[in-house]
Amino acid sequence: MPDLSLVPPAFGYILAAVFGAIIGSFLNVVIHRVPLEESIVFPNSRCPSCGAVIAFYDNIPVVSWMLLGAKCRGCKERISFRYPAVELLTAAMFVAVAWHVGPSAALPFDLIFVSAVLALIFIDAEHMILPNVITYPGMVFAVVARIAIPYLTGTLHFDDLPWLSQGMFAGMPVWVTSLAGAVIGALIGGGSLWLMGWTWEKLRGIEAMGLGDVKMMFMVGAYVGWRLTILTIFVGVLTGSIVGVALMARQRDGNMQMLLPFGIFLGLGSIASLLFGTQLVEWYAGQFR
Ligand SMILES: [Zn+2]
Repeated sequence: MPDLSLVPPAFGYILAAVFGAIIGSFLNVVIHRVPLEESIVFPNSRCPSCGAVIAFYDNIPVVSWMLLGAKCRGCKERISFRYPAVELLTAAMFVAVAWHVGPSAALPFDLIFVSAVLALIFIDAEHMILPNVITYPGMVFAVVARIAIPYLTGTLHFDDLPWLSQGMFAGMPVWVTSLAGAVIGALIGGGSLWLMGWTWEKLRGIEAMGLGDVKMMFMVGAYVGWRLTILTIFVGVLTGSIVGVALMARQRDGNMQMLLPFGIFLGLGSIASLLFGTQLVEWYAGQFR
């Protein structure tokens, strides 16, 4: 293992930003193609308007969009601001996660989790769906991470693990405790979303949520554990309600049936919880000690 403490931190953050922008460019492909049920590997990126293949030098994250003046080189059709926005946001998130996790074997896992959540946020914003091709592999990924990370970095990476290993799972092998944490988190995450949808359906007689949110929270809950899952739902419901009320006030025709893509708010909540949740929960619990 090379001594990573010798690498200046700034270099690590620049690397995280560049890598994030490249992954952001890939997420743009995922966000565009997955809802259309197209392959994300093949064919090469094409202009959505004229179909011209985009050359590698016109496909450099953020930079190409600016150099081309937000227009396709061939047909001069406008290229959406969403493309550089996703690249910049992913770069910023990678820097934040690198700052949070530090040089650790757990870092790639957190980066994959955040990338999957970012893809879900943008697909939900545009199509109001949370595709199974992301949430199902996401659940498998969470289980793999839950088993692997404690052996790579110790029990401190997962918010719930130190707590569980001292409590009812004391003396158990760490992978059993970690998996139990994943199951508890998934049941609390998916279960509460399912219950919210079910209650809303009984009260209003309309289907409020697709099962996409439930599956997304199975994945999130398994990865972040029960405490950060509750925080994720709290942040999601709070921000979603604020935005929902603001939008309804603007609409003025009192259309209460308006559906919000809730996955956006759950996604933002899960990333915020991953980055700041443990400190926030500890601070909150400290108020009662
Ligand atoms: Zn074009």
